[in-house]
Amino acid sequence: MSSAPIVQVDGVSYVYSGEQGEGAKVLDHVDLVIEQGTFVSVIGHNGSGKSTLAKLLNALFVPTGGVLRICQMDTRDTASIWEIRRNVGMIFQNPDNQIIGTTVEDDVAFGLENLGVPPDEMRIRVNEALASVQMESFALSQPHKLSGGQKQRVAIAGVMALKPSVIIMDEATAMLDPQGRKEVMALAHQLHRTNGVTILNITHFPEETIDSDRVIVMSGGKVLLDGTPGQVYQEYETLRAVGLDVPFAVRMQHRLAEAGVTVSPSLRQEGMVEELCR
Ligand code: ADP
Repeated sequence: MSSAPIVQVDGVSYVYSGEQGEGAKVLDHVDLVIEQGTFVSVIGHNGSGKSTLAKLLNALFVPTGGVLRICQMDTRDTASIWEIRRNVGMIFQNPDNQIIGTTVEDDVAFGLENLGVPPDEMRIRVNEALASVQMESFALSQPHKLSGGQKQRVAIAGVMALKPSVIIMDEATAMLDPQGRKEVMALAHQLHRTNGVTILNITHFPEETIDSDRVIVMSGGKVLLDGTPGQVYQEYETLRAVGLDVPFAVRMQHRLAEAGVTVSPSLRQEGMVEELCR
């Protein structure tokens, strides 16, 4: 894993302006550095600013204050916008809203066509991308006939074809059934391991965060906690105070402690308690 920061968020604030003038600061002086190849989970209650941060990272919005750099490119620099968007792939909540092509392979090719990639190279990259999400056998299928999890895998293939540095999953598993959720999370971890792609998984499922390298907790437009899952979930009382759920295993450990039942250190060392929540 290289240590070059791929995301640098420096004192970033964001205010939506509307018909009634400027609103409140939905991001308030956020500082973050994310190293290349990190699997990051972002959690926080509704309205804490997670999606706004994702849109700033994709250069869909520019910061109202501060500076945001992706792969050393300043998102305020209009000349870099397309390169930033190619580097930062977004997967959204509703798989149906992301389907454009009439076949799976057309859908995956869409972004490459926009970039003007020559047909021969396009074919190679579409096949590689479909293989990376284990959907090669569906190349000629109609996307709307696929399951929710399969549609999200096709959307991820469309992003992978562009060879991104970062994939942002903005509640990408929220509309899926348990099987689809499992498939998509397994795929995200596999792409992270084998392709070294940086993943930012915005989620409201605490169990999805356990295998991350890092968990960022947003609250009221600020970073409330930032660390490994172990460090962040030790702050049980802080998380509960802002109404955030924690993984089942963490909750169980606290309930047992409250009931005076101590978990044997050997079980903790073997990670058995954490295993229970998978
Ligand atoms: P999260 O993803 O954590 O739910 P968001 O980034 O979507 O949070 O929203 C943060 C805040 O910004 C919320 O108060 C929300 O109402 C507000 N907001 C989001 N989108 C808009 C918009 N297009 N116009 C005005 N306010 C918005």
